[in-house]
Amino acid sequence: MRRLSDTHVHLNLRDFARDRDEVIARARSAGIELLVNVGFSLTTSRESVRLAEAHDFIYASVGVHPHEASTLTDALLSKLRSLAEHPRVVALGETGLDYYRDLSRREDQRNAFRAQIRLARDVGLPLIIHNRDALDDVLTIMDEEDAGSVGGVMHCFPGDAAYAREVVARGFHVGIGGPVTYSRKGRLLDVAREVPVTRLLLETDAPWLTPEPHRGRARKHGQRPRNEPAYVADVAETIATIRGVDVADLARATTGNAMRLFSIGATQRPSIAYEMWGNLYLNITNRCTNECGFCVRYQSDTLWGYNLKLDREPTVEDIVEAVGDPTRFREVVFCGYGEPTTRLDVLLDVGRRLRTAGARVRLDTNGHGNLIWSRNIVPDLEDAVDSVSVSLNAQDAATYSEICRPKFGEKTFDHVVGFVRECVKAGLEVTTSVVAVPEVDVEAVRKIAAGLGVPLRVRG
Ligand code: SF4
Ligand SMILES: [Zn+2]
Ligand SMILES: [Zn+2]
Repeated sequence: MRRLSDTHVHLNLRDFARDRDEVIARARSAGIELLVNVGFSLTTSRESVRLAEAHDFIYASVGVHPHEASTLTDALLSKLRSLAEHPRVVALGETGLDYYRDLSRREDQRNAFRAQIRLARDVGLPLIIHNRDALDDVLTIMDEEDAGSVGGVMHCFPGDAAYAREVVARGFHVGIGGPVTYSRKGRLLDVAREVPVTRLLLETDAPWLTPEPHRGRARKHGQRPRNEPAYVADVAETIATIRGVDVADLARATTGNAMRLFSIGATQRPSIAYEMWGNLYLNITNRCTNECGFCVRYQSDTLWGYNLKLDREPTVEDIVEAVGDPTRFREVVFCGYGEPTTRLDVLLDVGRRLRTAGARVRLDTNGHGNLIWSRNIVPDLEDAVDSVSVSLNAQDAATYSEICRPKFGEKTFDHVVGFVRECVKAGLEVTTSVVAVPEVDVEAVRKIAAGLGVPLRVRG
């Protein structure tokens, strides 16, 4: 079952008067776990709250849209503040700037945007930002009003990949909906491909912006193509295809992002075992002897919707129980938010049990095992794992030290290379990897791997 979310809908509108309950039921059946109904005026904000009170998976956002900016008086702002304190309200917005339709004076739009960023900061809620033809002004106001301190989402993303980087750098998420399905190329597809998965949110903006194929189908029958939350599945499919990932993984990851951003649901329990791409990954420790600048654990506790921040290190029994039947997976991989060989006894015990049960086992490692244990651990690995993937990470010791900041200092790189050599000698199936950060000379790393007689995987 897909775990989807729609972070921007307007189900309170008249468009849904006739069949709102059926639309909500279809959203549920499509696997939508959370839905944020977005207000754009005082009235629609109140309607959003009422919808959220009536349905346990619907949450509300309250705010005044740039089209309505001229209506935002102090009295209205204080009513919004009271609404924002309702427990079902998870965000402030939609607010922002719309210079395309200019339905309110631009000066009023800017003032209303500033006032709502301040309100969001006061009440501690993330922002839902609407931005049309106002790219520069939106960023300027976000900076001047310190919108980054509450974060949020720029919905119906209006810019290119460079603009997305600016938005992400300010602690914001990128909301993508139906328009990503409209053509096979273009800047929104670049954004959908490049934005870090931890900052991606899915939305429909229903009743507008119906994704394909529903849009084309309705038009063919001469109907107005009304959008609805269940169609977020088509947005997910399209983005998963663009990124070359499984749609279930993308759905789970983006839903995890939404839950985190809007502080929805109980804090997710840490995952010891997590499933991705047909493999099962084991997260047995959060300790590591490197501090790589690019390490994802410094960016987020969650990866693809799984919480990998352990509250304690699991025992062998915990891990075996979390795995269940290991033959269901292509491979079981020791990986996670830490270096597995720091827990060598546990790794060996679990690895042997998994292999006895018929699983194929891989170890993803930084290659420090022999330094950690001051001996050659590779012979121990032989009956616990089938294959080993070692992160080479650099072309020489100085670069390695600079980007990985290893606990063992400059000598570490030579030991990593030596570890690969020992693994090859022991007859293990060995691969190496490198993350293509600017400091790294990928071709030089490729030569080192070739010299060791092992393949190199270059990661983005
Ligand atoms: S070796 Fe892996 S887990 Fe450790 S800091 Fe580097 S990327 Fe993170
Ligand atoms: Zn909008
Ligand atoms: Zn909207």
